[in-house]
Amino acid sequence: MTSSETTATIEGLSRPVPVQLFVGGTWQPAGGGATFEVRDPADASVLARVADATADDARAAMDAAAAAAPAWAATAPRERGEILRRTFEAMTGPRADDLALLMVRENGKTLTDARGELTYAAEFFRWFSEEAVRIDGDYRVAPAGGTRTVVVRQPVGISLAITPWNFPAAMLTRKLGPAFAAGCPVVVKPASETPLTALLLAELLAEAGLPDGVLSVLPTTSAKDVAGTAMADPRLRKVSFTGSTEVGRGLLKQAADQVLVSSMELGGNAPFIVCADADLDAAVEGAMVAKLRNGGEACTAANRFYVEDAVADEFARRLADRMGTLTLGRGDDEGVGLGPLVNEDTVGKVERIVKETVEAGARVVIGGERPEGPGYFYPPTVLVDVPAGSPATEEEIFGPVAPIVRFGSDEEVLALANGTEFGLVSYVFTGDLARGLRLAEALESGMVGLNRGVVSDPAAPFGGVKQSGIGREGGHEGLAEYLQTKYISFPL
Ligand code: NAP
Repeated sequence: MTSSETTATIEGLSRPVPVQLFVGGTWQPAGGGATFEVRDPADASVLARVADATADDARAAMDAAAAAAPAWAATAPRERGEILRRTFEAMTGPRADDLALLMVRENGKTLTDARGELTYAAEFFRWFSEEAVRIDGDYRVAPAGGTRTVVVRQPVGISLAITPWNFPAAMLTRKLGPAFAAGCPVVVKPASETPLTALLLAELLAEAGLPDGVLSVLPTTSAKDVAGTAMADPRLRKVSFTGSTEVGRGLLKQAADQVLVSSMELGGNAPFIVCADADLDAAVEGAMVAKLRNGGEACTAANRFYVEDAVADEFARRLADRMGTLTLGRGDDEGVGLGPLVNEDTVGKVERIVKETVEAGARVVIGGERPEGPGYFYPPTVLVDVPAGSPATEEEIFGPVAPIVRFGSDEEVLALANGTEFGLVSYVFTGDLARGLRLAEALESGMVGLNRGVVSDPAAPFGGVKQSGIGREGGHEGLAEYLQTKYISFPL
């Protein structure tokens, strides 16, 4: 399908949003002239037609990035930081409502979740605007004397950012913030489900003074071709991917050909452990956030609930009561606490996981039936008597389903929690701080929420171990991912 539209008017937004590719500082149609549809998950209606980038467009984006790279690396850190800072101001000021509503429209999340994501996303630009001016070096004396070593940190070079649909703004700013602070140009391949947020962010960055070519955004339905073309280009130096472990594995193999610096934020299967000595009210509130933020479509979502025998029934009852109060509906409708899932595949997967887990012996306390009607809705669901090893505890659910498994001892729960290839985040609720720290240290994950249902913070090094990823985003570590170390050795 082709289209000559340059922008789309989305209901509720103050301005039309760009729908073309952003390459070399200009908006342009895809090389082949093709477009694809972006749909509203609440009713499957078409929101916009977006330019569908080809391999030629990826080459053009690489050309633009290569042309911009030297001047961008040489730009004063303060100036790079100010561009991020001005974009932060636009995201949290005049364009905040537009961005939040756009994410509701293309992703389906509730307006509350969209506003939360927007704050989080913008904070990466503020944090890295402050980090840009703190890139340090080192001056060392050789042990034998004489020789001096000056250590400098330089931008790693042109980077490819591939992002998922579940947090269309934050997964992008978490990469762009440190890349721009370090002085790297970036070619972005946003998720085909949610390209509009990335395009609107590109508009804001351009308005904030980002030089032409430093950012390109290539929405596409040919992810493999477009990303593959950029990754085969010897001028590319880094790939930063957020998405499924399966796609991440494939990208790591491709990255090997050019020995690309690689950052991988991959899938999760977070255990949520409730000890008998926990404050149960706090544990239920933590569970609501860890399970239902973004409708369960988060890599950090609590996927498996392990509750100590003595409080398992009470926790299940309270969680079901709280989850049962949520109203399912369109994300920006009044009183709605849970929006639709992003697409038919996602809701189909959740349905299958629940069905197979019930067949394995689990019991449904609430939910468990997909409602009739348009859109990709699935209700809040609590499963008890879930056998360990059933699909709900083995697979990433990515929906509002809480499977509850009982445990008897810390050794048992650690074996269950660590018995997975994933290692992104874990949650522990206990009233005994020493027990909590012992569990936190023994859990095989990159992050632990101790008496907290959310761990995300722009100042913290977000990331996983095992097959949940390589590298960290946020914090000082996030900037280091876009810098490389060089030393200059000289006699004195
Ligand atoms: P996905 O299917 O892996 O897709 C992620 C991105 O990769 C999309 O832009 C997708 O493009 C692109 N892609 C797919 N196949 C590709 C290929 N062969 N070559 C290059 N790019 C390719 O993941 P998703 O369904 O969007 O997101 C959900 C997953 O992301 C979950 O597993 C979740 O846990 C993970 N996630 C992890 C983190 C973290 O920080 N660890 C954060 C958020 C999400 P298309 O849209 O065109 O398919």
